Amino acid sequence: MSTNDNNTNDNNRNDGDDKKKTTRFCMLCRRSERDCGNLITVPPGMTVCSQCLQGLMDRITEMTGKLDPNAAKSTKKDGGDGAKNDETVHTGEVEDTPGDDDGDDKKDGKGMFGGMPFSGIRFVFPDMMQGENARVRPKQKKENSEELPDVMDIKDLPAPHEIKARLDEYVVGQDYAKKVISVAVYNHYKRVRRQEEEQFRDDVVIEKSNMLMIGPTGCGKTYLVQTLARLLNVPLAITDATSLTEAGYIGDDVESVLSKLLANADDDVERAEHGIVFIDEIDKIAKKKNTTSRDVSGESVQQGLLKLLEGAEVEVPVGASSKSAMVPQTTINTKNILFICGGAFPGLDEIVKTRLTKSFTMGFNANLKDSFDKDPDLLAKTTTEDLREFGMIPEFIGRLPMIFALRGLDKEAMKRILTEPKNAILKQYQKLLAMDEVQLKFDDSALDVIAEEAVARDTGARALRSIIEDFMLDIMYEIPKDDTIGTVTITGDYIRKKGAPIIELRA
Ligand code: ADP
Repeated sequence: MSTNDNNTNDNNRNDGDDKKKTTRFCMLCRRSERDCGNLITVPPGMTVCSQCLQGLMDRITEMTGKLDPNAAKSTKKDGGDGAKNDETVHTGEVEDTPGDDDGDDKKDGKGMFGGMPFSGIRFVFPDMMQGENARVRPKQKKENSEELPDVMDIKDLPAPHEIKARLDEYVVGQDYAKKVISVAVYNHYKRVRRQEEEQFRDDVVIEKSNMLMIGPTGCGKTYLVQTLARLLNVPLAITDATSLTEAGYIGDDVESVLSKLLANADDDVERAEHGIVFIDEIDKIAKKKNTTSRDVSGESVQQGLLKLLEGAEVEVPVGASSKSAMVPQTTINTKNILFICGGAFPGLDEIVKTRLTKSFTMGFNANLKDSFDKDPDLLAKTTTEDLREFGMIPEFIGRLPMIFALRGLDKEAMKRILTEPKNAILKQYQKLLAMDEVQLKFDDSALDVIAEEAVARDTGARALRSIIEDFMLDIMYEIPKDDTIGTVTITGDYIRKKGAPIIELRA
């Protein structure tokens, strides 16, 4: 126990000196030094009477005993092994060992606190006296005053066809995926209601509808999930499977995604427990074939994710992505969190093709073999066997009961993405120029050229924005200069850099 020597000496002065001093009070019971006897000063300058200190120590002994019966026996020699206890003790902890040679114990001749046993006990100040309660309490659900007008209520979800209709407003094509997602989400939140509302409870257990989306890059996997979470007004956490590692290795452990979810739910545990977690690039954690080294990022990460997908109580740091003794923790139950995994699964098409070809060549019509090469829906024929062959472990696939594929986007889909969604990228530019009272138009040839270029880049709809930003820079720079311009029409030739846009002046 380290104390302030001057103060300790003050405590031992005679009554005559006391009169000259200002009256000191115990910071816990508020009694004056005259009423409760000598005060003890503990860092960071708190004065406490011996009775309060005794009470504090009793509380701590009781709590540490509850957490870990051996904790009270721990001494400085622990070297930090008592990490579990550290979680409840935040700052200002003071340790002492009787008989150590710092001399503190000898100040009043019989050891500090009149010979009280305090071996190895950690001192905690009143604002830290929460022990297990140091966990963050769930915040009260916020009144969502600024709810979007078009959000759905997860407690009273519209039927799947209505959910799909809402997705249609933003996501082009991918009809099958939207249908599967709408049904899965509808069932998922019904299942949540059954658990939470007495009237629906019975002994039929409805399983979670976690999903696995297979589709090439840029085809709308993430966008679909983002749109869904926004429409449902539930928090969403997106993580990249490649950044996840088995606990103990450099990188984020699998539970870090729940921290993100909690942060996106404004630290509201209840909201986070109804949220959605999207794990992208899930194919990157496939089991590596023929590897002798320890598979840190692959199979073991799949193993680590199992309990989250299934439903588990997980300790999550609040306001930080990694656990540490100094970060408060809370518990999140994942049983009602909807997990959606997505990945491009390069090479999976070959696995599917090989399997299908095998089954057909064994049959009577081997000529069908070539037709698989041209089948745009080949990935839709994926089975769990194919995924196992790819390197996903069976337990992992088993926890993702809804498996479906998204199609790569063709030229027509690209053209529709440019113009149809509620927040289509061309509409966004049109709105910006409309604020300068300029009408922006794209003729059909322009849409063709942009869509063709995007398909050629092979990065899905992601390419659209970069193509458009390229040629729109000049337009956005030049047009506001001249307030006689009323309409600008972008043509295919302008995008190919073979001509200028058509400018019409204001009437
Ligand atoms: P990924 O499939 O790789 O997750 P994203 O969903 O991130 O691809 O798509 C990238 C961007 O392309 C999205 O932000 C969205 O603007 C656009 N996009 C992709 N697919 C579609 C689609 N089907 N409908 C509308 N926009 C789309």
